[in-house]
Amino acid sequence: MPIRFTPSSNIALLRESATIAVSQRAKALKAEGRQIIDLGAGEPDFDTPKFIRDDAAAAMHAGATRYTATEGILPLRQVIAKRARAYGPAAVDVEPQDVVVSNGSKQSLFNACFVLFGPGDEVLIPTPSWTSYYEMVQLARAAPVEVRGSRERDLKVTADDLERAATPLTRGVMLNSPCNPTGAVYSRDELRSLLECAERHGWWVISDEIYRRIAYNGDATASLEVATSRDNLIVVDGVAKAYAMTGWRVGWAIAPREVSRAMTAFQSHATFHTAAMAQHGALSALTRSDESDREIERMVAQYRARRDAALEIFATAPDLPLVRPEGAFYFYFDVSAAAGNAPDPGTAFARRLLEDKGVAVVPGVAFRTPEWVRASYAAPQSDVVEGIRRAVELWREMQD
Ligand code: PLP
Repeated sequence: MPIRFTPSSNIALLRESATIAVSQRAKALKAEGRQIIDLGAGEPDFDTPKFIRDDAAAAMHAGATRYTATEGILPLRQVIAKRARAYGPAAVDVEPQDVVVSNGSKQSLFNACFVLFGPGDEVLIPTPSWTSYYEMVQLARAAPVEVRGSRERDLKVTADDLERAATPLTRGVMLNSPCNPTGAVYSRDELRSLLECAERHGWWVISDEIYRRIAYNGDATASLEVATSRDNLIVVDGVAKAYAMTGWRVGWAIAPREVSRAMTAFQSHATFHTAAMAQHGALSALTRSDESDREIERMVAQYRARRDAALEIFATAPDLPLVRPEGAFYFYFDVSAAAGNAPDPGTAFARRLLEDKGVAVVPGVAFRTPEWVRASYAAPQSDVVEGIRRAVELWREMQD
């Protein structure tokens, strides 16, 4: 009998990524031979440092080709735990058993949402946020609650904002500093106040720190530096962004022991573990830390130079609302004044920018803030400067 696909209730609310339409159109235009400046990517444009590639290849040749423990190879978890312990008093008891290595930090975020939240639970998501948080919470059958950050605070939220959005059903909050898509960084005090608020209310905190080392006033504050306890805290990190290792798919969670056990059990039935040789690459990145730090410094210096060059162009349009990024590699700006009464101004603007000016950016609807667009500066400086110049030019033209 022919069978028809009817999506299961598990994915009833699942949405395709809102970025797909623009990136597919960008690809189609490229295929037609048009020169497109791509400021859409959320991925470093640098290669993984050579010593990491060499160490991973050597490990592979030495036999790192077999299954590993679900939670990851012990030396990798040991170095992650050791580095975490240095953060502060709340972290002194972090052991390798509290660490679960996964397929990118994305899987750690998913694992955490899945084991912590379920039907009837509400999870606070400072908005704008990375598109997958909302979907992950929904896939766990919990309800994402958008908490808008105010413009005066670069779209960051405060403890008061969280408390206003909370209900008796609130079970957790997702934090992300530096933030994708805004590049905003929470100060020590701001982060401390959010963590205190969550602790007071008995909420879980999932702190996504994947961009922590890409910041322009020193590394952004880690939640373990300012937390008074880690009983309700799941820290998620990985090598993808700072070490330019996106394709290796190595991330991890540091969680209270019972939670890390549950995440390991869940992962054992889902993906098992991430590739053995990739784990050895991450081990090299974390253990050869002097070399890694030099590489990170070099890359961050380039991101900063691109940011500063593009900020000069934004400065010529002081009326264009923009979050001044202090971390990550994104500009987030509000184009609603240019896109008239369009129901989704960011998408209308991104479409015209692509069609008329050959520049790809991501509409803010992907981050639940349709008035805005995100332009990545993980791209050559000449592209960043020219892409932003054209974006500002279009913004002016659309207002005329
Ligand atoms: N968290 C945020 C905020 C991201 O922007 C991304 C990737 O774009 C991820 C997590 C996932 O990173 P990974 O490659 O480690 O899965």
